[in-house]
Amino acid sequence: MMTGDEYRASLDDGRETYFEGERIENVAAHPMLGQTVDSAAAGYDRFYDPAPDAVGAFMKVPGSATELREQVELHESVDLLTHVTYASIMTLLTAADRIEGTLPENARRIREYVKDAQRRDIRITQCITDAKGDRSRRPGNQDDPDQYVRVIERRDDGVVIRGAKLHISAASMGHELMTIPTKGMKPGEEDYSIACMVPVNAPGVKIINTTYAPRHEDTRDFPISGRHHTPEGFVIFDDVFVPTERVFLDGTPELAAVFAHSLGLWERLGGLAAMTRSYDALVGFAQLISEANGLDRVSHIREKISEMLINATLIRASLEAAIENCQVTSDGAAFPDELYTNAGKYHGAANWSLMVRHLHDIGGGSILTAPGVADLENGHVGDLARKYMGTMQSVDGLYRAKLFHAIRDYTADSFGGWNAVTNIQAGGGLYAQRLVSRLHYDMDRAKRTALETANMAEYADRV
Ligand SMILES: Cc1cc2nc3c(=O)[nH]c(=O)nc-3n(C[C@H](O)[C@H](O)[C@H](O)COP(=O)(O)OP(=O)(O)OC[C@H]3O[C@@H](n4cnc5c(N)ncnc54)[C@H](O)[C@@H]3O)c2cc1C
Repeated sequence: MMTGDEYRASLDDGRETYFEGERIENVAAHPMLGQTVDSAAAGYDRFYDPAPDAVGAFMKVPGSATELREQVELHESVDLLTHVTYASIMTLLTAADRIEGTLPENARRIREYVKDAQRRDIRITQCITDAKGDRSRRPGNQDDPDQYVRVIERRDDGVVIRGAKLHISAASMGHELMTIPTKGMKPGEEDYSIACMVPVNAPGVKIINTTYAPRHEDTRDFPISGRHHTPEGFVIFDDVFVPTERVFLDGTPELAAVFAHSLGLWERLGGLAAMTRSYDALVGFAQLISEANGLDRVSHIREKISEMLINATLIRASLEAAIENCQVTSDGAAFPDELYTNAGKYHGAANWSLMVRHLHDIGGGSILTAPGVADLENGHVGDLARKYMGTMQSVDGLYRAKLFHAIRDYTADSFGGWNAVTNIQAGGGLYAQRLVSRLHYDMDRAKRTALETANMAEYADRV
């Protein structure tokens, strides 16, 4: 396994990565992006085991509800890069099972790759979302055929791919890009039915980074995003050669969706688990700021917080149900329940803005205008600022201002905006979660129940 320092050094591999108009020579040494590398390096140190055949504890494939719960709890505390690596490995193993019958050689390549990736202790990011061009048209019908990643050349020893994958979390901080089709393909879309592993430093890979990380020198006013942030990568495959051993699917449209579907479950389980924590944090912020404002006993405030905590409880309940109702496959791997995972993730994403609305309603305007920590420390005005930010004997101005900074950072500033959009879009977007929920919901049971409720037993054949 690699230590944090070995991981940092491993990123200095000639990768072509850009930020704010400049090429970054060494991402680990960059003043802003390097902070994300530090978080990931801490993850390496946390799981480091010097034994020659050691594999990170975060990689464990759960075999029961208990082990699945342990993995979910562990992943609540790991950095995003470590988490997406785990989800990628689980995706690949899930997909290998699903394509085994039709493409046994490809399934073998996947399993070999996974062993090798675990041996090298690398980090993998997930390249699924294509540029997509005109959304109303199929990949093969675009004005520009490169809007979905495709094979432009097949050689004896591999393929050459072209296209772009957008919004890829931590793409510049990982070692390899798990590049898979964003959706199902149809006959005639063989070139778009490509799944493969691409090293970040492969010739032709170019990554443009964006991040919500605060640009301020004094990050004390950004107590959350000032400590941990993860950039998204705009990943361009400018004619990249991929050797055959790393090609997991090429030209079998009927299997193109297998990879994204395999990923979706793990991605949304991770999203749901993260959401249980975020929802509790929103409830906690609402309660703390209402107490600091002296309003925690006022009925309309209590009602809003009650609604918030009911939502938080339902999200946690769906995570519990997803774990408890897991299905264990014949080779002993536990998969969370699809319906509870997707319905819970959907509910959390769809109600995020309501939760934030209540918090903003309860908190007041200082969410945006509380003076910075440096101003509260200023020799001329700091005392007065703290005096007027304070509300009562037990609530000093610094404490209340810090709460406001945290709420602004989490919900109303750059990171807050990122949270708002990401909750809606990540994991395939609300539409994807609705679709999968519908697929797994027992509609016959619902129809039967409706007919029974209506005393219409004579129409039972409609089910
Ligand atoms: C912060 C962040 C991190 C992300 N991380 C990753 C990552 O690590 N890896 C990754 O692969 N992706 C990642 N994503 C991408 C995410 O999965 C996509 O944003 C999401 O799938 C939506 O795709 P899109 O952004 O292209 O939007 P669009 O596809 O343009 O969707 C916008 C809206 O149009 C609708 N729509 C689109 N096409 C159609 C159609 N044909 N018919 C009807 N309605 C349509 C959608 O349902 C949606 O409501 C991330 C996104 C964000 C915001």
